[in-house]
Amino acid sequence: MCGIFGYIGHRKASSLLVKGLLRLEYRGYDSSGIVVKNGKLESYKDVGKISEMASSLPSLKGSMGIAHTRWATHGGVTKENAHPHLSNDGKVAIVHNGILQNSNSLRKRLAELGVELSSETDSEVFCHFISMDLEQGKSPLESLQNVLSIARGTWGLCVLFLEHDFVLCARNGSPLIIGRGKDEMFISSDPHAIREHTDQLVALEDGQIAKVESNHFQVMKLDGKKVKSRLLHLEEEWGESELGDYPHFMLKEIHEQSQSLQHCISGRLRSSEGTSVLGGLQVQPQELAQLPHVRLIGCGTALHAAQIGQILIEQWARIPAVSHVASEFNANDPVINPKALHLAISQSGETADTLSAVKEIQRKGADVYGIINVVGSSIARQCGKGVYIHSGPEQSVASTKAFTNMVGALALFSLQLGRSRHLSKTKGKSIVKEMRKLPDKIRTYLENPGTIDEAVKLVTEAKSVLFLGRGISSPVASEGALKLMEIAYIPCLAYPAGRDEAWADCTH
Ligand code: GLU
Repeated sequence: MCGIFGYIGHRKASSLLVKGLLRLEYRGYDSSGIVVKNGKLESYKDVGKISEMASSLPSLKGSMGIAHTRWATHGGVTKENAHPHLSNDGKVAIVHNGILQNSNSLRKRLAELGVELSSETDSEVFCHFISMDLEQGKSPLESLQNVLSIARGTWGLCVLFLEHDFVLCARNGSPLIIGRGKDEMFISSDPHAIREHTDQLVALEDGQIAKVESNHFQVMKLDGKKVKSRLLHLEEEWGESELGDYPHFMLKEIHEQSQSLQHCISGRLRSSEGTSVLGGLQVQPQELAQLPHVRLIGCGTALHAAQIGQILIEQWARIPAVSHVASEFNANDPVINPKALHLAISQSGETADTLSAVKEIQRKGADVYGIINVVGSSIARQCGKGVYIHSGPEQSVASTKAFTNMVGALALFSLQLGRSRHLSKTKGKSIVKEMRKLPDKIRTYLENPGTIDEAVKLVTEAKSVLFLGRGISSPVASEGALKLMEIAYIPCLAYPAGRDEAWADCTH
């Protein structure tokens, strides 16, 4: 699932669309394209870099358009398969994120009706079905509802019409948000792309559609029933997304850790009481005191943060805690205790396995709290409560500052939990004191990161790397191994370091 950006307003759409796509570039893609209403629906697309596709764009006057970065699932990486896709009469254009499971049968049905398909994608069928319905006198909304009623799979979908001054959007399993500006609207699959234009957004839910005009939008259920949507506000830190003097985003984000951890803890620590206060948790001390256990769920980096959270919860709050990899959670048919506390951890808030674990836990009667970075993301909304980690945008695919802040948020949570149970005020106060020092410690360390350059020299020559750690350092070792594999493609293994006595034995 890749990127969508749309614009309806009074400014030149093409340059805003390209800028929007560039903001989504960090998610990876193989091809890109835009379509602008400019007397006709003018579409430009190509494989490779967005900047190359954009360099072939003529000056387009239109102030309404949609754009896409594709990560191919159906059909090769070709110009024809890149989105947008247009109906054969040129009156309907679509961009689609996700996978249509029944695309073969829908393509076959179109072929039988004599419709010529010009790509190998699953997505293209949307524009042809909509176009056929329009020709038969159906409204754009009805035409979209009809095709969605026969589609099986996931979509974040935008439809642009030559003969109408609005964009229709639909969401099912693939995120889509609407950003509200002044007499202009933005559509995106990622809040990061709209932050420079507006901090007000509405996130579509699965099964919803929206009609977006330049000064108004209406969210509906699939049957057209109007839905009152909740306006969300993006936090200020989402503005900090320029690369500046850094050679790449990962290094920039490593250096942002001190500041972003400060954002995460500020206002949430209470020195005099030796505790923390996480407003979003909405749990009463009495409930915290009676918790039978805590389960933490995440994937990859979020799982490693969960493993640290597990240790902190057990040490500070003396409650059994266990972390699970989200992708295995449902398959193992876990026993859910509705009285237990469940935490779902994810940077993007869109991790599909974590989202499906959240739904499974809720189905079995328990609450889940989100530990999430992206405001208004699917997991944040599905949980309905939790803690935002406030890392700001993380553009590097390899997580850095979000990991730090997940651990920070989990430490705050463990402290609050501990203080409503067995943790003494004195111990709590000393934890608060140490936590307040952390942003400065990170800054000081990064100013002089010691022997890292030497270690890098050693590692670049290595055929494989073994990461060892004990206690909290064991999940940190796992995170280090994951990071090095992601970045350097060096095979890595993380392993618990073992007991002190074992080291002693080794000396004999
Ligand atoms: N399934 C569509 C395709 O292969 C969309 C992929 C995406 O989400 O980028 O074209």
